[in-house]
Amino acid sequence: MKTIDNYDFTGKKAIIRVDFNVPINEKLEVGDDTRIKAALPTIKKILSSGGATILMSHLGRPKGEYEEKFSLKNIVPRLSELLETEVKFAKDCIGEETSKIVNELKPGDVLLLENLRFHKEEKSGEETFAKKLADLADVYVNDAFGTAHRAHASTTIIAKFFPEEKMFGYLIGNELKSMDKVLHRPEKPFTAIMGGAKVSDKIQVIENLLDKVDNLIIGGGMTYTFIKARGGKIGASLVEEDKLEMANDLIKKAEAKNVKLYLPVDNVIADKFENDAKTEETPVDEIPDGWMGLDIGQKTIEGFSEIIKHSKTILWNGPMGVFEMSSFQKGTETIAKVIAETTENGAFSLIGGGDSVAAINKYNLKDKVSYVSTGGGAMLEYIEGKELPGVNAIREDLTIERRNEGEKNEEGKKLRNKNHVL
Ligand code: AMP
Repeated sequence: MKTIDNYDFTGKKAIIRVDFNVPINEKLEVGDDTRIKAALPTIKKILSSGGATILMSHLGRPKGEYEEKFSLKNIVPRLSELLETEVKFAKDCIGEETSKIVNELKPGDVLLLENLRFHKEEKSGEETFAKKLADLADVYVNDAFGTAHRAHASTTIIAKFFPEEKMFGYLIGNELKSMDKVLHRPEKPFTAIMGGAKVSDKIQVIENLLDKVDNLIIGGGMTYTFIKARGGKIGASLVEEDKLEMANDLIKKAEAKNVKLYLPVDNVIADKFENDAKTEETPVDEIPDGWMGLDIGQKTIEGFSEIIKHSKTILWNGPMGVFEMSSFQKGTETIAKVIAETTENGAFSLIGGGDSVAAINKYNLKDKVSYVSTGGGAMLEYIEGKELPGVNAIREDLTIERRNEGEKNEEGKKLRNKNHVL
C-alpha cells in the first residue's frame, strides 16, 4: 500500500483533504488552531519531498452557498504563519480560475481551496463534482479522520479517480493504527472505561467491546440506568427509563462473554445540579429522593484505579462525573491521572470522544497517554465496528463490491477483518 513515506512526490501535485473545521471568532480569525497544527506534518512532508499541495476542507455548516463567516480565507493568515510560507487561496474549490492557479503551482507551493461545502454536491457526494476536484491533482491524500465516516465527495468519492495514487496522511494513519492496535491486537488485560451522560449513545460501542475486553468499567451518568435496572434507588439521577431492559441485557451479555463489568459502588450526590449544591457520599443504589449522583465516590475511585493499574491496554470514552463543575470532578481527574500513570508503566492508552479528550486536556495529561483521538463521531463508529467509507475508499476497492454483495459469506467477513488492520 502506498503511504506518504514511500511515495515519490517529486513534481507531483497532491490534493489533501484536511480538517480545517476550526472555531472562527467575531473578528473572523482562527480561535483554536489545534486542527491546523495537526495537519502540518503531512503538508510539510509532501512539500519537502518536492511536491506541491492543494488543501481542501469544509468549515462550519454552510447551506451550499457562500457565507463570509465560513470562508476558508479566514484561515490563510494563521496557516501561512504556521507553515512559514505563503499560502495561495482559490476563491472557489473548482472552476476555471482555480484550474489556472493550480496549473501555475510549483514544487513547494501551498494552495488552499475555498470551503467545499459552498457546493451542496460535496455533502451529497456527487461524482461529477468529485471528478472536478480530482482533475486538479496527480495524487489524493486523505488526512481528515473527523469526516471519514461520511461518504462526501472529498472524503470518499474522489478516491475512485485515483485508483493507484491515493493514501492516508499521518494524522488519519496514526489514528487508525492506534485504534486497530486496541481493537485487533490489544495486549491483555484490556480495560475499557465508558462514561458520559447517556447509555443510548454508546450501546453499540459497548456491545462491540464485549467481544474484545477483559474488563468493562462503567461510570458517569449512564451508571444510573444500570443501577435502576438492577432495582437500586437512584433518586433524581440521570436515567433512561426506556433503556432499563437493555442495560440488564448488557449485564447478561457481559457475563456470558466472561467480561468483568464494573459499576460504581458509591457516589457523590447533590441536592441540585449546581457546583455549590449540598453534597454527600452514599452507596450508589441508596440515593434519597430529590438527590442526584454527579460523580463516582471514593471506594469506586479506588476500585476502578486498581483495575486500570493492572491493565495493559486501556480505552477511555466519557467522563466519570460532571467534571465541568469542580465539586464533581474528582472521579474523572483521578481516573485520568491513573490512566497516565499506568501508561508510564508500559500500558497502551487510547482516549477518545469529545468530553474525555476535554478532560485529558483540562488536567494537562495529553502527552502522558498513548493516543488522544481527534475523531469524535468517526472514532465511535469505528469502535462500533462500522465501516468508514473514507477509510475503505483508500484501503481497498473491493470493499465497494463486497458491500453490494451484502457480506453474504465468510469471505466477506474475513475481508472486513483484514480491512480493519493497517
Ligand atoms: P457524553 O457526551 O455522553 O460523553 O457525556 C458527557 C457529559 O456527561 C459531560 O458533560 C458530563 O457533565 C456529563 N455527565 C457525566 N456524569 C454525569 C452524571 N452523573 N449526571 C449527569 N451528567 C453527567
